[in-house]
Amino acid sequence: MPVDRQIKWPDGKRVAISLSFDDARASQVDVGVPILDRHSVKATFYIKVERIPDRQELWHAASANGHEMGNHSVNHACSGNFGWKRAQVLETYTLEEMEEELVEASRLIEKEFGRSPASFAYPCGQTFVGRGEGRQSYVPAVARNFVVGRGFRDEHFNDPDFCDLAKIGGTELDGLDLDALIDVTERAASLGAWVAFAGHDVGEEGRQVVFVDALDRYCVYCQDPANGVWIDTVETVGRYVREQREALEG
Ligand SMILES: [Zn+2]
Repeated sequence: MPVDRQIKWPDGKRVAISLSFDDARASQVDVGVPILDRHSVKATFYIKVERIPDRQELWHAASANGHEMGNHSVNHACSGNFGWKRAQVLETYTLEEMEEELVEASRLIEKEFGRSPASFAYPCGQTFVGRGEGRQSYVPAVARNFVVGRGFRDEHFNDPDFCDLAKIGGTELDGLDLDALIDVTERAASLGAWVAFAGHDVGEEGRQVVFVDALDRYCVYCQDPANGVWIDTVETVGRYVREQREALEG
């Protein structure tokens, strides 16, 4: 039997699914958006603003067509342990610097797309600044500025009654075949949960790639009413959860 949640998904749906894609990679608009549009699936794109000019018309068309353009910071700071860079790493950030950067990224995205982002994806799924006794969470800064903050490679799905909207779990989308996608969806449906999938490139093969065939067929699966799936953007599902909580609190 499914878990009895207070918050139910609209129209008797069993599970909520959001597809999100990080870093504004070209293959997302070249390959991914046409697939999503063919199936009328709206997704969320966590934008690296400096990559937009490369495919500006396609990004603007995707935004105009109802895909969500989310905030992914300006500098994409992660732990210095990744070794990409030694400046602008989370271990040397302050909370003030991070919040200023999030506000600046939202300003740049609003300038580009005419709308300030409602959701944020933590670069590398990491939520801290500083180190040792000075290490602090920047989740509160995300809570102040967004409806939803999405993690990455979390082991849990999101319980609509309980989850912290400022740091929801993200489930990796890269590299999954259709069977794996359906397996995740069915496990989440048994919990009445929300899955926020996070992917990178869209293509035929490779690392950090959402597979074309799996994405295409998964969209068909999600849009088949028999499967009881509500698929929509991170912002739309997040706002729904927030409204339902407010209604329950009276
Ligand atoms: Zn990223």
